[in-house]
Amino acid sequence: MSSTRLLSVILNDGHFMPMLGFGTSAPRKVAMSNVEEAVQVAIDVGYRHIDSAYSYLNEEAIGQAIRKKIANGTVKRTDIFYTTKMWGTFSRPELVQRGLELSLQKLQLSYVNLYLVHYPVSLQPGEEFIPMDSQGKIIFDTVDLCSMWERADMYYLPLAGYTDDSSQHYPLQAMEKCKDAGLARSIGVSNFNRRQLEMILNKPGLRYKPVCNQVECHPYLNQSKLLEYCKSKDIVMTGYAALGSDPGKEWVKKDNPVLLEDPVLNAIAEKHRRTPAQVALRYQLQRGVVVLAKSFTEKRIKENFQVFDFQLTPEDMKTIDGLNKDMSYFENIL
Ligand code: NAP
Repeated sequence: MSSTRLLSVILNDGHFMPMLGFGTSAPRKVAMSNVEEAVQVAIDVGYRHIDSAYSYLNEEAIGQAIRKKIANGTVKRTDIFYTTKMWGTFSRPELVQRGLELSLQKLQLSYVNLYLVHYPVSLQPGEEFIPMDSQGKIIFDTVDLCSMWERADMYYLPLAGYTDDSSQHYPLQAMEKCKDAGLARSIGVSNFNRRQLEMILNKPGLRYKPVCNQVECHPYLNQSKLLEYCKSKDIVMTGYAALGSDPGKEWVKKDNPVLLEDPVLNAIAEKHRRTPAQVALRYQLQRGVVVLAKSFTEKRIKENFQVFDFQLTPEDMKTIDGLNKDMSYFENIL
């Protein structure tokens, strides 16, 4: 068995997903050359799981980095687990596959390993990421979650709000069809609460359960109830903002306490001769959460990968559990 598999979890559709993923969402001002460089460093260091999204606007650079690493023999495509996410403007069943194809075009890859519904929210289709009306209010769409997940009909219709000619005659293909078409090996969701997951799981005729639910998860928002629920349904929880995210990013609150400065986390780190970041990541791994860590700094990219050679004690885990205050770093915009 390859070392990548040893550090992986098996998903409910039989595919493997590496437990530690490399996050790639960064403030808009970060140059694409930095993204490309960081992804290459991450692959060299040993990360095999890379997380991005259509809305991060960086998939060209990531695709370039992955393809370079394949071309120079560092990895094969089958070694890499790549995740992208469907933005809300692609929520209509007839647009779901289109969203994925646009990502694949940018990546210049033939498939992704995981395609996630980014938010349980649909937005008016069109070129605007966040469509707004003249009063500055977000224009939502009315697609229900179940039709976003699966819509079996295969007919053609013109797509209102879309200027791209090729989308004018597009077959209805939603999440499950993307898997059938081989464009996504696995499908899942992100930012879903229990009720929203239940809507999908209880949907008549469900063919593929979501393999994972990617949510904000760190010691200040440990999502213990949702984690328990996901485990009971064989859905992996993936945690983002596990290091407390970056207040320089859009939608991240600016005045929250800094997770990595937490004295309790620091004391546990000191005891193990590790850094608070390593403890925050290890905490998630030991509770069965697949964890994402973003850094575009070589030293930290390496540091964040050194989390498989030490163990937190049950007391450490309990102490970190005690830091929970249901505090989100992200603004609830959508
Ligand atoms: P994060 O991984 O919690 O934190 C990233 C921040 O921590 C960056 O500012 C980084 O700075 C810093 N950092 C990284 N390693 C460090 C270390 N060892 N010591 C000190 N600081 C360190 O935040 P995130 O990027 O918000 O979340 C991770 C990933 O999850 C994202 O990149 C994205 O792929 C995904 N995500 C998904 C969603 C969703 O809705 N599904 C939402 C948000 C994020 P440097 O880069 O300067 O090192």
